[in-house]
Amino acid sequence: MLSSNSDPIVAIATPPGKGGVGVLRFSFPLAAQCESFCEAFLQKIPAVRMATLVTLRDASGHAIDEGIALRFAAPASFTGEHVLEFQGHGGPAVLQAVLSHALAQAQRLSLPLRHALPGEFTQRAFLNDKLDLAQAEAVADLIDAQSVGAAKAAAASLTGVFSHQVTALADRITHLRLLLEATLDFPEEEIEFLEKADAKGQLQAILNQHAELTLLAQEGVKFRDGLRIVLVGPPNVGKSSLLNALAGEEVAIVSPVAGTTRDRIVQELNIRGVPVVLVDTAGLRDTDDVVEKIGIDRTLKSIQEADLLMVLHDATNAALAAIDLPESASNLPRIMVWNKADLLPQHPQNSGEDQCWVSAKTGEGLELLKDAILHKVGFNHAPEHGFMARQRHVDALKACRAHLELAHAYALQDDRILDLFAEELRLAHDALGEITGRLLPDDLLGLIFSRFCIGK
Ligand code: GDP
Repeated sequence: MLSSNSDPIVAIATPPGKGGVGVLRFSFPLAAQCESFCEAFLQKIPAVRMATLVTLRDASGHAIDEGIALRFAAPASFTGEHVLEFQGHGGPAVLQAVLSHALAQAQRLSLPLRHALPGEFTQRAFLNDKLDLAQAEAVADLIDAQSVGAAKAAAASLTGVFSHQVTALADRITHLRLLLEATLDFPEEEIEFLEKADAKGQLQAILNQHAELTLLAQEGVKFRDGLRIVLVGPPNVGKSSLLNALAGEEVAIVSPVAGTTRDRIVQELNIRGVPVVLVDTAGLRDTDDVVEKIGIDRTLKSIQEADLLMVLHDATNAALAAIDLPESASNLPRIMVWNKADLLPQHPQNSGEDQCWVSAKTGEGLELLKDAILHKVGFNHAPEHGFMARQRHVDALKACRAHLELAHAYALQDDRILDLFAEELRLAHDALGEITGRLLPDDLLGLIFSRFCIGK
């Protein structure tokens, strides 16, 4: 749990280090607190939403910094409270001096101004209904985004693209629940209810809408957490070279001697804006070399964590193509990649998503391979056309689905147990409420916000 929400809070909102501008952000629950603080700290009360040039001075009149003050009155602010921002110079010493000055002025006024905890500004925005929880989480995801595409997906969630779809689904469930509740009040009409209200039809529409939203949310999780792709294949087929070609830089040792790749090499890159963790694995082969054996064990572990397997072969040497994959890899989506296609006088065209002919050396076929990778793991959108989501949201959607399916089963029964049907719909609705934070315990909320950065 975060500390008292009735305290005014302050934080340096810009990252540590030197920069052109450094921002201090304050949020005050009460207008009077904000105004008296402005008088003391800035020697004036800036007009709301008017950039105001101010000079901060210590008790003896020495200038501490000069900058722009911006005041936002509740509820039209990020937190929904009375917010003040001071945009001064971005140096660690000057920002500390401004912060100390602010705290000293607050103390003089007996204002309980304190340092904000991580995520506390966003938590206040959530508590004041400026954002729902999925949007609040998107604030952190936007800041953490590793690619332009991921940032766009997070921005979509921040502006409510995901939340609106969750709310639309919840509204449909509410509508059906209201019909049901009305019928439960008149039990003699129960039998006809399902037909009259087309409850089964409505439920089917809800299930369809749910399925579409789940696919989008699963995609959204990948925009955030990235894809994990494991490259496997016999030594010397060009795994390191392919990794380098996809990453666009030299990251792995490339050598014509079999067995150079002694350990996993993890490379973060992005494919069409989707963050990808590519794991180049130790050449899978029988060996007595202790170090190489460790590498091979790690390879086997990587395979269990993967979203996709790329099995690489040397297109010029089909004899090496047989490769024993562990049991755990049998259900993973897989692409066969035939490398060194440049050495073949001719080769088959890429056929669908399962087989690709590429050359890590010349770059031939790499764009088609990227298409195949994204399609194979179920991407239908570029990040900028989707939204970002978290595993927590997908789990809530799954819980919702389980209740919707039970409701569906009750609706199909001849003796139609309407109260059980109604109860499952209520539980499905509650599961959706966890996404927007309508129904999440305080300790979980505290945990989510504590992972934000300070000043956000
Ligand atoms: P790894 O052991 O599977 O990681 O293989 P490497 O990436 O170290 O490559 C083994 C050898 O094959 C090196 O000499 C590379 O230059 C060469 N090689 C890799 N990819 C290609 C390719 O697409 N075409 C050609 N002609 N040679 C390649």
